[in-house]
Amino acid sequence: MENCIFCKIVRGDVPASKVYEDQDFVAFHDIHPAAPVHFLLIPKQHIASLYEVTETDQSLLGKMLWLTPQVAKQQGCENGFRTIINTGRVGGQEVFHLHIHIIGGKDRLPTMIHHGQ
Ligand code: AMP
Ligand code: ZN
Repeated sequence: MENCIFCKIVRGDVPASKVYEDQDFVAFHDIHPAAPVHFLLIPKQHIASLYEVTETDQSLLGKMLWLTPQVAKQQGCENGFRTIINTGRVGGQEVFHLHIHIIGGKDRLPTMIHHGQ
């Protein structure tokens, strides 16, 4: 995708602080970290969002979830981490290239979803 910022990172046209890369995925630090550890794991293939995945994406999605704790451990999340996939307008998605946020640090993260709202 010509104008997708994450495709540009995949191609090397936009710099990113990469923490992991293989033939299918790349992970890099979020430019606006919400916690001491905050990186994004994205497939190199352009998929706009989790809403757009198809049956043929199942193995890619499985690998994405499998890689998540591997890279999280490498980044020092030994006591856990939070994963977030924002999807579409309601989910607050800003970049329409599928990505998992992996967020962690030393201390417990604040509760992000408050019940009763
Ligand atoms: P969302 O689509 O809501 O899941 O959020 C997209 C995330 O991508 C935000 O947390 C941004 O800070 C992050 N982001 C946007 N552009 C870049 C970039 N060039 N490098 C790293 N992170 C980025
Ligand atoms: Zn893209």
